[in-house]
Parts: sequence; C-alpha cells; structure tokens
Amino acid sequence: MATYILFWNPAISSYTKKRFLHDFFTNNSVGNWSFHEHDEVEDGDSFYMIRCGEGRTGIVMRGEITSSCYEDTDWSPKNRKSIFYADIDPHFNINPWSEAPMLTPEILTEVLPDFNWFGGHSGRRLSNDMADKLDDLWFRYLDANKAMFIEGDASYDEYNSNLFPEKIERQLLDKTGGRCEVCGYSYEGIFGKHDDEHFPQIKPSIIDSHYLNRLFYNLCKNCKQVPYKYLAQKLSASSGKQD
Ligand SMILES: [Zn+2]
Repeated sequence: MATYILFWNPAISSYTKKRFLHDFFTNNSVGNWSFHEHDEVEDGDSFYMIRCGEGRTGIVMRGEITSSCYEDTDWSPKNRKSIFYADIDPHFNINPWSEAPMLTPEILTEVLPDFNWFGGHSGRRLSNDMADKLDDLWFRYLDANKAMFIEGDASYDEYNSNLFPEKIERQLLDKTGGRCEVCGYSYEGIFGKHDDEHFPQIKPSIIDSHYLNRLFYNLCKNCKQVPYKYLAQKLSASSGKQD
C-alpha cells in the first residue's frame, strides 16, 4: 500500500480554516482532495495532510484513501484543467489552531531530508522506505502526546479498527510479547499462532486518560470491553505511576 503527502494552505484553499474547524469539532470527514500523482492511487492507500503557508504548520491528518482518482472540475480559484481527486477518510486529526504540539516541516526535514515538507504539489507519493520512517515518527509522536487528545486539540476515529498500519501494530505488540497489558493474557501463548481473521487477537488500542503516560496499549478482546476508567486505573497501578 502506498502513502501520499497532501498539502493544505488554508489561505488559498477552498477548504478554509472555518471548514476545517467545523469538520474537526463535528467529526465530519473532509471528503476528497486533489492528487498530483494520480495514476496509481488505490482505495486503501494512506495519506498524511500537511498544513503549509502561514501560521502553525505540520501534519494535521493521517488516514486512508478510499477511492482511486477521478477527474473533476477544479474547486480552487485557479480553475485549472485536468484536476484529479480521490476520496479521503482521516483517522487522526490535529487542530493547528490549538496548543497541540505539531510535527513541523522542520522536524520532518530532519528525519526525511529528501522530500520538500514545506509545500509544492499536493498528492505526491512517498517511497516505501520513507513512508515506513514517517509512520514510525508519527505513531511515536501520538503515543508521547496523549494530552492533546484529552484536551480536545486532537481527535481520532474511534470506530475505525484500522488505525494502525500492520508494521506499527506488530512493533507495538512486540513490546509486550503479544500479551494483553491489563490481564497478561496471550491467545497465541495458549493456542499457538493463528492468522485466521476470526481468531481473537490482542490489538493495540487507544486509551486517552490523565492517569497514563502513553496513548497506545495492547488489549485483549475481553479487556477492550472494560470501561476506560477501570483500564486506566489498572494500568496506572501496574506501571507504578502516581498522579
Ligand atoms: Zn486482557
């Protein structure tokens, strides 16, 4: 699956600050976006959207592309010919008009110097190697900045079970040897390895709680049913953190 970088400059885009904030606070999806490299875009590819121009810049969305590209009339004031769009579904949103720490173009350039993170054509494909590095950086950034989710400066689509790319999911699960961090259970430990999609698996999940240091925790199917409050109490007690 490929990863595309979308650019957004609210000062010149028909997707204005007002529209962003409306979508952010009502959990609405942005709809579609224009793609410069449109030939190979596929349903299921990933995207990052980067705010550029004036103000606080950096990554404001990560999610999934849910169509291939189609040609349509230009909805920007430039009225260009042959503009290609694809439908996008953000799974994580960061509000740049908030206190949320941002993954800025400067930070991105430091980690991935071979790409212009400050702007240019929207809808450019990253190499697989760069996409892996960016995913790694992004999910570490989210995990370390849970406060922005609690404060309402960032949001995620809690109904989407597909929040983590496979490689990140494996990395997170490896941290606990595939065990549930609450009860210690391992389906694999009891039944052996099963790739059957119907076989219960431990999954990285999001718990946004004041009591915890991180955002991501590995949970079994049963613990996932327990209200967050009790999971947070249990996890903060076992990590020895007091606050
Ligand atoms: Zn469990």
